[in-house]
Amino acid sequence: MLDKDKALVVFSGGQDSTTCLYWAKTQWSDVRAITFRYGQRHAVEVDIACGLAAEAGVPITVIDIPFVSELSAQCSLTDSSITMDETKPADTPPNTFVPGRNLFFLSIAAVHARELGIMNIVTGVSQTDFSGYPDCRDSFIRSLNVTLNLAMDEQFVLHTPLMWRDKCETWALADQLGVFDLVRLRTLTCYNGIPGDGCGHCPACHLRRHGLEEFLKMKNEK
Ligand code: ZN
Repeated sequence: MLDKDKALVVFSGGQDSTTCLYWAKTQWSDVRAITFRYGQRHAVEVDIACGLAAEAGVPITVIDIPFVSELSAQCSLTDSSITMDETKPADTPPNTFVPGRNLFFLSIAAVHARELGIMNIVTGVSQTDFSGYPDCRDSFIRSLNVTLNLAMDEQFVLHTPLMWRDKCETWALADQLGVFDLVRLRTLTCYNGIPGDGCGHCPACHLRRHGLEEFLKMKNEK
């Protein structure tokens, strides 16, 4: 039997999932996190995630899934010899796309949640600032929710609080939750592994900074 008062956040220590973690703490009394070592370029990501979770008072589980990077030879996020696409190609996902990543993450999270009796699973994916990653779309999440429930005969609920928020609105949510500075200074979104404001030129930094500037402008105009 899954407990509706418990939630598991798929957590990377980036802007989006950190905002989701603090959001989850306002929704459920018992919140946990799960993070993955999947052969990402910057292993420091996992240390940052663990530190942020500890600070939030949230127990975190780290799962090793090195096969994700072994499967995908053409991905610049797991193979540092490949130059990163800085803009999105017209008809294919950019080479920062890790095929199957969210499918694996959420499937493993659901098995872990089942083990711990957790009904709610939270992920920070967003369709709004769509980077060309098919597994960030709402249709994928809805479909996977049904599949996971059928696969394990359970009643999981996948939550995507950022699905229809752009980056500016995600900054506004962090601000509402009282963690704007923490998210701004301490999270790691940058594909080049630099926390806070990041390298400034990778696609993740572009999106993050653009949203931040928009949010600060809006806030100052108030
Ligand atoms: Zn960057």
